[in-house]
Amino acid sequence: MKETKVNLDELDDGSVDYLVGIKHLIECNCVLPQFQNTKSPLFHKFIVFSIVDEENKTQEKNAICNNCGIVHTILEIGKSEITKSENLSSLREIKDIRIGLPPHIVNILEENQCDLATFEEVEFILDNERWGSYVVINKDQIEGRTIGKALIFKENSIVKIESFTRQDIFEI
Ligand SMILES: [Zn+2]
Repeated sequence: MKETKVNLDELDDGSVDYLVGIKHLIECNCVLPQFQNTKSPLFHKFIVFSIVDEENKTQEKNAICNNCGIVHTILEIGKSEITKSENLSSLREIKDIRIGLPPHIVNILEENQCDLATFEEVEFILDNERWGSYVVINKDQIEGRTIGKALIFKENSIVKIESFTRQDIFEI
């Protein structure tokens, strides 16, 4: 019988390393009160977290507009359609995600009043063991620069908080 040796490190173990988690903006049909009386109203945009697979396909999900409460089906990065018949109770909320996260990380996210998309981003990093990744937990724009704090994931839920400054004001 021929002996076969397998190097486990060389095998594809079916893990989900090719998935990418992205925070992106979705435009709604609603307008924030402060823009309602302007000539060309600016439609409200809200942040959603989505997972994109290796074929560049965005995993479909529903998300609720944080201004008007209408439900969007997220089709692609930055693209959605409004869903009329959605049972709101089936949508995940922060409280559904926080129970699966380590308490020390929940504390940091809550102290910084992080939104649902940020909780989902953290969950994605932990679930997929993306050590070395970071999540912005608060930020401010001052004179064209963004300053803030990022939560850096070291290994096995060990985290570190670091301050950052950058010129890029478009990143979310
Ligand atoms: Zn809306």
